[in-house]
Amino acid sequence: MPECRTCGGALTEVYDFGRQPLSDAFLEPDKLEGEFFYRLAVGMCGACTMVQLMEEVPRDKMFHEDYPYYSSGSEVMRKHFEHTARDFLDTELTGPDPFIVEIGSNDGVMLKAIADAGVKHLGVDPSGAVTERARSKGIRTRTAFFEESEALAVVAAEGNADVIFAANTICHIPYLDSIFRGVAALLKPNGIFVFEDPYLGDIVERASFDQIYDEHFYLFTARAVRNMARRFGLELVDVEHFGVHGGEVRYTIARQGAREPKPAVEELLAEEDARGLAQLSTLEEFGLRVTAIKDDLVTLLTKLRDEGKRVVAYGATAKSATVANLCGLGPDLVEFVCDITPQKQNRVTPGSHIPVRGPEAFRDPYPDYALLFAWNHADEILAKEQEFRRNGGKWILYVPDVHTV
Ligand code: SAM
Repeated sequence: MPECRTCGGALTEVYDFGRQPLSDAFLEPDKLEGEFFYRLAVGMCGACTMVQLMEEVPRDKMFHEDYPYYSSGSEVMRKHFEHTARDFLDTELTGPDPFIVEIGSNDGVMLKAIADAGVKHLGVDPSGAVTERARSKGIRTRTAFFEESEALAVVAAEGNADVIFAANTICHIPYLDSIFRGVAALLKPNGIFVFEDPYLGDIVERASFDQIYDEHFYLFTARAVRNMARRFGLELVDVEHFGVHGGEVRYTIARQGAREPKPAVEELLAEEDARGLAQLSTLEEFGLRVTAIKDDLVTLLTKLRDEGKRVVAYGATAKSATVANLCGLGPDLVEFVCDITPQKQNRVTPGSHIPVRGPEAFRDPYPDYALLFAWNHADEILAKEQEFRRNGGKWILYVPDVHTV
């Protein structure tokens, strides 16, 4: 029986997405040989309720010198993190010698406002090019994987932290035991560990199955996070639900007894119970919806191709690897994907080998349909690309079901 990566309990598989590539490994078109594949499947622990991948991809294959995701690419996310930084500056970083550490600081999108305010900070992120970008903006950054040994090195060199923050990163890290031991060592006695990640409740509600890929090892709920924290003498003291990235929860964790848990924690736990988020049957039902979406999307794209319509995709996101490879999409159904990230352009998508072009290709001329892979930035993109619809173009969305707008 497979074991839970966090507590060793029995893990039950609920959905198999099949053979999948590394979601961020965009390939040079003449170098497709030897592409890495693994089996993407998701399961739930019967003991601690943690939902997680059944197979782990070695971390160096995902996070390295050429990791191509730059957090500052989205205006909405820049504002979200600026707001987060201001909030920390006003509340937690007001003492005599404040210090904040960010795990997965990427290009410094959150720490920029902290650095500009002259407050002591440190980013820890293993991906070389993105951390170099952060350093070029004056943000103190270590290029390293955060884990227990790294946390102890930070304590020795810099002292303990008031705040440890992480966004869209903790769910990427299978070795959560080492993370939590490191956090427990690095935090000041009244410090807080705040992290936000895609929320299982939203994923189930919207059937947003493309949130499941190699980098998203865990799909958290408040209950699973609370169970995890308790094993390390820590306590879940607050939760906050946001709409960004298709629905995320921000968890605030403190040392056991250090802070009074806010009522929002019990409220979310009760809501999760009412929705059956810790029940296998809920995830099995989700799996049936995934299969229906897959069938509907393939049917629609095949029909459009047979009618001679031009279909391109918008946003060469990591999450699109799951939908493209689950549905067997290729250049025969989707002409190309446009994306603003120079590091992805003139390459092909992982596994599905659809060419990636710059945003100018989208308008030259506009296609009949655009498959919105970056649906989590739909408001921002639809506002930016109004001309497409004025020209008769239609967006194809596939969560919570396949539809056009
Ligand atoms: N925090 C940014 C945001 O929300 O936009 C970046 C999120 S990005 C999806 C995930 C980041 O986590 C990457 O920059 C990756 O290099 C980093 N990462 C992965 N494993 C890590 C670890 N063990 N310690 C620190 N960072 C890690």
